[in-house]
Amino acid sequence: MSIRLRLTLTYSIVLGVILLVFSITVSAALYWTLLSSVDESLDSTVSEIVSNIAPPRLQLAPSGELSLLFRLPPELDIFRASTSYVQIWRDDGTLSSASDNIAGYGQPLDPEALNTTVDTRRNVLIAGTSPLRVFTHPLVAGDRIVGRIQVAQSITTVLDAQKGVTLLMIVIGILALGTSLFLGGGLIERALRPIESIAQAASQIATGDDLSRRIPYNGPPDELGRLTTVFNATLGRLENLFIAQRRFVADVSHELRTPLTVIQGNVDLIRRYGADDDSLMAIGNETRRMTRLVGDLLLLAQADAGELPMLKQNLELDTVLLEVFEQAKILSEGKTTVRLGRFDPVRVYADPDRLKQLLLNLVSNAFKFTPEGGTITLAVWPDGPTARLSVADTGEGIPAEDLPHIFDRFYRVDKARARRQGGAGLGLAIAHWIADAHGGRLTVDSTVGEGTTFTVHLPRQIPPPESLVETVHNIPIPATLKAPAKER
Ligand code: ADP
Repeated sequence: MSIRLRLTLTYSIVLGVILLVFSITVSAALYWTLLSSVDESLDSTVSEIVSNIAPPRLQLAPSGELSLLFRLPPELDIFRASTSYVQIWRDDGTLSSASDNIAGYGQPLDPEALNTTVDTRRNVLIAGTSPLRVFTHPLVAGDRIVGRIQVAQSITTVLDAQKGVTLLMIVIGILALGTSLFLGGGLIERALRPIESIAQAASQIATGDDLSRRIPYNGPPDELGRLTTVFNATLGRLENLFIAQRRFVADVSHELRTPLTVIQGNVDLIRRYGADDDSLMAIGNETRRMTRLVGDLLLLAQADAGELPMLKQNLELDTVLLEVFEQAKILSEGKTTVRLGRFDPVRVYADPDRLKQLLLNLVSNAFKFTPEGGTITLAVWPDGPTARLSVADTGEGIPAEDLPHIFDRFYRVDKARARRQGGAGLGLAIAHWIADAHGGRLTVDSTVGEGTTFTVHLPRQIPPPESLVETVHNIPIPATLKAPAKER
């Protein structure tokens, strides 16, 4: 059963029940109101008769028995004759007196109430007449009931009014139900239409593998509007992921194919002309490049899967930087000047090996893209709640249009050149991920022809003084390297 049909049926049933209860209540209220006004009129007639009735006197019956004689006051008989029927019954069950309009009717108006000892009101149906409301009132003399007065009025008007109202309610109910079914069904259909188009778009995407499709929605920003927006945003993300994944696979294949081609070519040469140093060196270089590439890819894959272990601990960032500074000096081989800039002690909670990896990636890029004679400056300092590390070079710089992409995987400004220098475009992606995994970020500032500065921002640890003792000094600081810190 469709949602539309289910919703329409449900609210129609609810509406139907409400209308039914309402109609029954209105009709019952009308019946009891009208009936109580009839009862009031009967009550007043009875009290009028009782107050005007002459005291009963004894009469001698033809059989020789003595009995009481009640007489209706003549004026009551005249005035009430048209609408009320009156009978006075003796306690022995014989009729004493009756109004003229039922003079010929010798039966009690309400036979069942003829022996009642309390006031009784009942609806009575006498064949050949309209339904009657009969009020029976015991007549008391001293402490004994001497007779009963029965007054009746037709309730045809009451029943007719009730019937009319019930009929009206049924007609109104049917009209209301029909209108609401028609209008409600239409409204539900309009409201559900976007869901239908979402389902259609989803199935087209599923069958056609077309993630570029979006669901058109021109309605108000209600629940369905939000659903459509979220669905479109999800599609956008999926599309981007899909494109990125496709590009990634293409990039990886390309990166692996080049060294494999070089190796294959050199192996062919060796087979044909025997081994020579150049071929062996080329094979060695390409193998190293591939090993590095596969290592980087593995690391990123583990990072994506959340499986890369992080051994975080309290550490002094300045000591990590000194370690990298030491290595950088060796790597520079005297062609580039490596120096320490601002050098303030800062403490962070981080994995020292990963931080070193991050810094070495930045430093090795600085070497690659800084011509001989250039300067690379490493610095570390606290800045409010943040610890900052920077690697600045006086190299060629990065064009502004490339800056937003340099942290993307496999992105290189000058592909051919970067590749010659051994880069696959993964170094910055890894550095970015490491900064991210520490709750920090990596930013870049560059001017073409002047140089580039990469800054790592990490959450700084400001521990209470007593915990300073527990700091892990896992990196020994060579005494000679402490000097630059003081020179600053
Ligand atoms: P690669 O391994 O190719 O160096 P990276 O992800 O480390 O890859 O860097 C991506 C690209 O960013 C590099 O190819 C280069 O074009 C640019 N780049 C990175 N660092 C620097 C820098 N210090 N100076 C100039 N360009 C840089």
